[in-house]
Amino acid sequence: MMSAQTQVLSSPASIYVHIPFCRYICFYCDFNKFFIENQPVDDYIEHLGQEMKRTLPETIPVDTVYVGGGTPTALSTEQLRRVLRDVKERTDSTRPLREFSVEVNPGEADLAKFDMMKEEGVTRLSIGVQTFNDTLLEKIGRGHSAAEAVETVQLARESGFDNISIDLMFGLPEQTMEDWKDTVSRAVHLDIDHVSAYSLKIEEKTMFHNWYRQGKIKPLPEDTEADMYEVLEEALDDAGFHAYEISNFAKPGKESEHNKTYWKNEEYYGFGAGAHGYVNGVRYANLGPLPHYLKAVKAGGDPVKDTHEVSRTENMEEEMFMGLRMKEGVSAQRFYRKFNCSYYDIYPEALQELTEDGLLYDSGSALQLTEKGRLLGNEVFARFLLDEEG
Ligand code: SF4
Repeated sequence: MMSAQTQVLSSPASIYVHIPFCRYICFYCDFNKFFIENQPVDDYIEHLGQEMKRTLPETIPVDTVYVGGGTPTALSTEQLRRVLRDVKERTDSTRPLREFSVEVNPGEADLAKFDMMKEEGVTRLSIGVQTFNDTLLEKIGRGHSAAEAVETVQLARESGFDNISIDLMFGLPEQTMEDWKDTVSRAVHLDIDHVSAYSLKIEEKTMFHNWYRQGKIKPLPEDTEADMYEVLEEALDDAGFHAYEISNFAKPGKESEHNKTYWKNEEYYGFGAGAHGYVNGVRYANLGPLPHYLKAVKAGGDPVKDTHEVSRTENMEEEMFMGLRMKEGVSAQRFYRKFNCSYYDIYPEALQELTEDGLLYDSGSALQLTEKGRLLGNEVFARFLLDEEG
């Protein structure tokens, strides 16, 4: 079977690179990741470079690169430098990247590591803070303190980064509204440019899932989570961050260009163990377990585990679900360019009803959720499901 990666017809302009190593394993995490001790890290880096080179033997024009995980900063400075260089080598050097992001965990990057990232052209950092409450950090299995998170932001600034994002989590077991307000207040007083905030989802195959089944932890009620979201939104708005996506808030000009690729339903390469990609209409997932991934690349083959050809119908659904998450909404022009028809041709009733119910708004050039629509997001998204024949 030819894979998504070997059938390349035209190149996406975004690249995701997965570093599946962590210095600790958080209790809620279902990502493809491994405790770094005794792992074949150098071997992985070598073969990650080979996977990229094999898929992209010629350089391509790229707009955005995102190195995530796992934890890229679990690598040593020189190991991470090698990854950054390998990915840059696949990109056309005559065209500067619009955004080159790396995920960072608090306490895992000193000034030398930040300086190296700066030298290698990284433009944006995404720091996994989650909460400023040390007791909660411990309860969710994070291996750092709130003070280390603050220090990491300061070091990143000192190194000259002018685009710093932090991740926060709410709806954590035993998290009170007071805890959350304190975290939000400490976040807005930090010198940062962007916040991503997600509520806890208890995913299968995590410690939290086991504890949930045993009745040892209880998720917060949905109403409390909704109140927490409102507290966040209001505080960030007052501090000059705009909600350009349901869970993402940015100071002017600091929106995540790479993540917009996903919300605009555009294609991207995914490299590394367990990485996902979307190329030429095919979504694919790489093999997750390291031995399987390494064996496939070493054999000169393809580390892809699953491929899924996205039908026109699915593509339209995704265009609506993902696009409506953004404040700018679903562009009429982009929809027409992709599908050669208007969204009104496909969703005449849903669009009329959602507009009448005050959940959706047509700006003339795009469909956007109203405030009420954002609070009822999932209900709105469900209206865009189609029968397979479209
Ligand atoms: S949340 Fe991040 S640091 Fe924690 S285990 Fe998952 S990938 Fe590793």
